[in-house]
Amino acid sequence: MSALDTVPKLDPHALRNDFPILNSRIRADKPLVYLDNAASTQRPRKVIQTLVDVYENYYANVHRGVHWLSDQSTDRYENAREKVQNFIHAAHSHEVIFTMGTTAAINLVARTWGDQEIHACDEIVLTVMEHHSNIVPWQQLAERRGCKLRFADIRDDGQLDMEEFDRLINEKTRLVAIVDVSNVLGTSNPLPQIIKKAHTLGALVLVDAAQSIPHSPLDMQQLGADFLVFSGHKMMGPSGIGVLYAREQILENMPPFFGGGSMIRRVKLDGFETAELPAKFEAGTPPIVSAIGLGAAIDYLEEIGLRSIQEHERRLTKRTHLLLSQVSGVRILGPAPEKKAGIVSFVLEGVHAHDVAQICDRHGVAIRAGHHCAMPLHKRLKISASSRASFYVYNTDEDIDKLVEALIDAKQIIRRGK
Ligand code: PMP
Repeated sequence: MSALDTVPKLDPHALRNDFPILNSRIRADKPLVYLDNAASTQRPRKVIQTLVDVYENYYANVHRGVHWLSDQSTDRYENAREKVQNFIHAAHSHEVIFTMGTTAAINLVARTWGDQEIHACDEIVLTVMEHHSNIVPWQQLAERRGCKLRFADIRDDGQLDMEEFDRLINEKTRLVAIVDVSNVLGTSNPLPQIIKKAHTLGALVLVDAAQSIPHSPLDMQQLGADFLVFSGHKMMGPSGIGVLYAREQILENMPPFFGGGSMIRRVKLDGFETAELPAKFEAGTPPIVSAIGLGAAIDYLEEIGLRSIQEHERRLTKRTHLLLSQVSGVRILGPAPEKKAGIVSFVLEGVHAHDVAQICDRHGVAIRAGHHCAMPLHKRLKISASSRASFYVYNTDEDIDKLVEALIDAKQIIRRGK
């Protein structure tokens, strides 16, 4: 028996009942087929109910009150932090900083660690497959500090060119900022190898886990990355909440980002002392209810099991590749299904990605079209836009059949129009 046989198979049809929005009928009474999970997922009733429950029964500001209600919301907020800690296997809960999302977390690192540690002679290594959120903050840092950004290319099969990566990284490299799973190609990068190499050269590693954390298990203590960032809304949590994880020692040495309430121990007219972790990085009233909702999303994900989720998406990805390869004119981007996560981007010859998405929408099928906040990658692929289907626990084989039907229709409509 292989290890995979021991992973319990999830039942997407049963899970769909947990998601009220999936019963929607849209566009002339078509059932909603939601294949835009890489942009944002849907929320199960348990998460939605948790939000309602907090607002109805436990809501007050955190860390400030001496009253019962404030204790209740503080306990739930800090409990959510512990859930995140356990979910990513961090050594300490104070290594978990709540942010607004992945973008906010990367900007926090660039503005604090980056401004303090990066100098004109330093280099930061990125890849051409990064989301704009993991490019622009470093470009802004380079403008401020004069450092150099170096971008590792991909191979023609959509995987990172590790030989080039090895050539780019050297003793000037202070940081490798890399996506775990590409939001366009679905490519899963060899993080252990990258982290080992970076650490040997004294560089730190920031992992953009926006597209991986919701879909596969991750152990920070085992992985050894220095920074990890992700968003709650891509893992069934509320929007407006995300996480920056960093090792304790790094966070201790980083200056705070926003100044204001909660992040201070003491304020005098001529200066301030910063609070302990994690408060040091959580100025102002935090996204209390969203953080608690993220905790509920983690409970739900853990009930299903990350391995089961990963296997389910692998099956769907494989099936999508197989069916799309039978539609003439479809070019699938990225590596073979066994080398990618549950994201399948493609171009349909002669049809603009936006038209593809619009015709899919008429069939009730929600997919994404455009550059997916990865313009440099699209330039590298010599295309201006692509269409993307991305999966989660509630997607079924029938959803993929509907996508394929919609694509065949798109081809016919375009052919008729010509
Ligand atoms: N990185 C990757 C790989 C992403 O897919 C996304 C969201 N599309 C982000 C960063 C940005 O996430 P957010 O918009 O939640 O800040």
